[in-house]
Amino acid sequence: VTAVHDVLTYLDRENANQCGPCFKGIPSMASVVGALTRCQATAEDVERLATWSRTLRGRGACGTLDAACQVSASLLEQHGRVVAAHRAAPCARCAGRTHGTRGTAFAVPWPARIEEES
Ligand code: SF4
Ligand SMILES: [Zn+2]
Repeated sequence: VTAVHDVLTYLDRENANQCGPCFKGIPSMASVVGALTRCQATAEDVERLATWSRTLRGRGACGTLDAACQVSASLLEQHGRVVAAHRAAPCARCAGRTHGTRGTAFAVPWPARIEEES
């Protein structure tokens, strides 16, 4: 769950703020998955995440929003028991991997350094 949260946080941080469904939808999805990592997500939150993962597909100008929808849908559809467990009790593994609100395990330094060939 934390890994999915990391991916969504990364996509939120790196999107270009051009399409409303993307720059509003991705942080909303990240917020629900973040709540799951803290055992604070409600059944309604999870239902909203499922709805967004279906209805926001194809609504961005590039594939970033679709990636967020896909990773959210995979979490819900392929790991339903894990999601349920994260609603029932705090997860020690998630609790031990906090990266803050904007930081992720997929941190990319910016501006990105391009290695010049010598
Ligand atoms: S869908 Fe692509 S172009 Fe649109 S805001 Fe997201 S990252 Fe930018
Ligand atoms: Zn967990």
